[in-house]
Amino acid sequence: MAGRELSNTFAFSWSRHQMFYQCPRKLYWYYYGSWEGWRADAPADARLAYRLKQIKSLEMLVGETFHEELATILRRRPDPPAAVPVAHLTADMERRLLKRIRESRNADWERYGDPRRSTILFEDYYQAGVTQAMEDAALAALRRCVAGLASDPFGRRAFVVEKQKVVYVDPPRGGDSAQRGVRHGDILLYASPDLVVRGRERGLHIVDWKTGHPYAPNDAQLAVYGLFVSRRFGVALEDLTAHVIYLATGTRRAINVADGVAEATRAIATFVEDVRSRLTDPDKNLAGDPSRFPMTEQRWRCRRCVFRELCGRADEPAQAPGLDEP
Ligand code: SF4
Repeated sequence: MAGRELSNTFAFSWSRHQMFYQCPRKLYWYYYGSWEGWRADAPADARLAYRLKQIKSLEMLVGETFHEELATILRRRPDPPAAVPVAHLTADMERRLLKRIRESRNADWERYGDPRRSTILFEDYYQAGVTQAMEDAALAALRRCVAGLASDPFGRRAFVVEKQKVVYVDPPRGGDSAQRGVRHGDILLYASPDLVVRGRERGLHIVDWKTGHPYAPNDAQLAVYGLFVSRRFGVALEDLTAHVIYLATGTRRAINVADGVAEATRAIATFVEDVRSRLTDPDKNLAGDPSRFPMTEQRWRCRRCVFRELCGRADEPAQAPGLDEP
């Protein structure tokens, strides 16, 4: 990280909101206690928090692999319309998933000393590891999602529409995080929809493909995507429709973004006030006192939490977190 001064900027995202109201300490470890934990001379707690925040479950890895590979292929998409490249996507995703399962199993993060660059699976770190049956199930889930994409109207549209109508594809992780952020008042608002594509008539469609089981995202969550796209591309909220599509089942939900914006704006304002009131220096976004971010009393949450080692809650039986875990 030498050569560039990093600052920890206060920001809102829907996952930060969920995290904070489920367990304030989790938000602390994720965004404050792990800060500079990449440095060899950082305090031991910060280095451990930085390592633990990289942990993900196998289900999360399937989702990440699907989204990263799809975004890569969409960014490189040739101009002429084409069918969804099912065989290409499946082969690349399977290869990437197996490589990442292997690097977690081999504890590459420990051998090479860089937890950010090597996968750490919850199942390897806190449980007995990934069995062959789990690996096979993960590959099958990935294939189901590619098949779901190929039969989804927006999946087909992303490949068939003129390329300039594909307005936004989720940028690569680890790249310039500014691409995922827009100003919202005096804070940054982060969102990462998978795709933004022009409609057949006016307006833009914001698409979020899900690889997990259906759950009910509320309108405010979808409206946060709308606020991001509206500011990023200067499009009126009334001209935005947000879609959540569960690829394995075909379940879908769409809202006109304008309908959820009042609730989203209230959620953002409440979050900003609640988190800033716990900071020791709000202007510098410093949280010098972890006790202001209490640990949840719902101890069952600790079973699925990557910070269980740090919080001394590893006596709770470990359960790999699902995709809805913030
Ligand atoms: S282990 Fe429990 S108390 Fe600690 S951050 Fe996670 S959910 Fe919160």
